[in-house]
Amino acid sequence: SGTVVIAGGGQAGLQTAASLRQNGFSGRIVLAGDEPGLPYQRPPLSKVYLTGQAGTDGIRLRGEDFFTDNAVELLRGERIVAIDRERRTVETASGTGIEYDDLVLALGSRNRELPVPGADLDSVAGLRTVADADLLREALGSVRRVVVVGGGFIGLEFAAAATDAGLSVTVVEALPRVMSRVVTERTSEFFTGVHRSLGVRVVLGAGVRRIVGENGAATGVELDDGSVVPADLVVVGIGVRPNVELAEEAGLAVDDGIVVDGSLRTSDPNIFAIGDCARFPSPHAGRPVRLESVQNAVDQARHVAAGLTGDAGAYDAVPWFWTDQGKVKLQIAGLTDGHDRTVVRGDQSEGKFSVFCYRGDELLGAESIGRATEHMAVRRILTAGAPLSPEQAADVDFDLKGYSK
Ligand code: FAD
Repeated sequence: SGTVVIAGGGQAGLQTAASLRQNGFSGRIVLAGDEPGLPYQRPPLSKVYLTGQAGTDGIRLRGEDFFTDNAVELLRGERIVAIDRERRTVETASGTGIEYDDLVLALGSRNRELPVPGADLDSVAGLRTVADADLLREALGSVRRVVVVGGGFIGLEFAAAATDAGLSVTVVEALPRVMSRVVTERTSEFFTGVHRSLGVRVVLGAGVRRIVGENGAATGVELDDGSVVPADLVVVGIGVRPNVELAEEAGLAVDDGIVVDGSLRTSDPNIFAIGDCARFPSPHAGRPVRLESVQNAVDQARHVAAGLTGDAGAYDAVPWFWTDQGKVKLQIAGLTDGHDRTVVRGDQSEGKFSVFCYRGDELLGAESIGRATEHMAVRRILTAGAPLSPEQAADVDFDLKGYSK
């Protein structure tokens, strides 16, 4: 019992509340989020919500009933502005003080801004919140030419949706390949091909010098080489910054993320941090990492809830990710950076293959395209810590699914 205050009403915050009640926690739960509505999922914002195949109800994490039925006090549009660690209270923007026994920081992240002139023009937008998605959804019906700055997951998902809506789309990526932070070269190249075949213009290795505009609105994007790509809408997807200021001001350790230990506790034993905002020691990476995914938010929330209602041990969930770009789904199991060798299983020309990433003989993870069963098998193999040789991985006759059971 006691009071758990959760700061941040997104994927991780909501899951903490839900899991606490599922585990029989009978104390007070306050979930304070600074967005106006009910907690929702972000992944559809750049996918089915953007294209209109899902509406507001379709992206909600829980309906109104959940909060009353489970006695979760949801504060909407309430920003937590300060933590008093000595008195164990948080203060909201409207001046209310709330006492806690344990505090969970699930503050998420915010979009990195493009540091060039013109980035503040109208019709330059980012995509993070449902409010952003609403604006973009409307724009898709009224603009013709879009430039997407940043060839990461969100930029590429947006590009696919905008092309599908009949717009002319250019993706500008500063690095030599798309999604380079998170996928292998082979997968980058495959997706560049996917987008080009959809009609997206993909410009690689091109920096943005400035956004040009007229009467306060963007009209194009000027690249490093001086060329200007015309645009009625510029969507910036160049990564995020974790929301750490609240923790920092409270004197908690911060290092591109709120620093937590193996139990997801901050430098204050009564304060946890989870999801996009937390940097945690990952046994799978062998170092502290900060991950931005639903899996990470949900599993960390469950872990903290388990710890608050019993003994949870150290957090060691296998990370996994997905992205849907047009009709192509990419699923990633494990953390593959630091690999020195890849083996491919399946047929790339059919768009159904997995790229297994190894460091020496150790399997770090795999990227699967159109191979959901293999993705699931790799997750189980990584969870079990079972050895899988590169030869076994590459051999389509080797029963991966059977082996992982
Ligand atoms: P969030 O869900 O961002 O929630 C944090 C909440 O805290 C926000 O509502 C924020 O406004 C609020 N907040 C911040 N500061 C305060 C404060 N001081 N007081 C009160 N509230 C505060 N992941 C995938 O795995 N697959 C995908 O396909 C995928 N697609 C995505 C598409 C888009 C467009 C976006 C934006 C993200 C996508 N993600 C995807 C990432 C995934 O949504 C995030 O990793 C996940 O939402 C993280 O959960 P979180 O609870 O840590 O943060």
